[in-house]
Amino acid sequence: MSWKCDCCGHCCRHVDKVPALRELANDDGVCKYLDSENKCSIYDHRPAVCNVRWIYEHFFKPVGVSEEDFYAKTQEACDKLRNEVISEEASENEHA
Ligand code: SF4
Ligand code: SF4
Repeated sequence: MSWKCDCCGHCCRHVDKVPALRELANDDGVCKYLDSENKCSIYDHRPAVCNVRWIYEHFFKPVGVSEEDFYAKTQEACDKLRNEVISEEASENEHA
């Protein structure tokens, strides 16, 4: 099973919505380490919570969760966040 982050950047642009990452947020909710090309500027040293593979290996694999299930849930979380962001942006545009 392979899952590939498509680098949409939504999670890094909305760290204010993620309790474990809130301290990385600039005033606009964007992670202070996201660069102008939508890439993590500290990728090799990013917090463990930003590393999907690390999270799986340390928290889910030891309790028997399959990679398939874990990545399916990860994809669901990405889709949920994406939909939230899209609807918030649409609502902001309506009221602009
Ligand atoms: S929201 Fe998901 S797909 Fe988008 S950058 Fe974050 S981990 Fe990758
Ligand atoms: S540290 Fe890097 S991977 Fe983590 S939220 Fe910030 S930009 Fe994204």
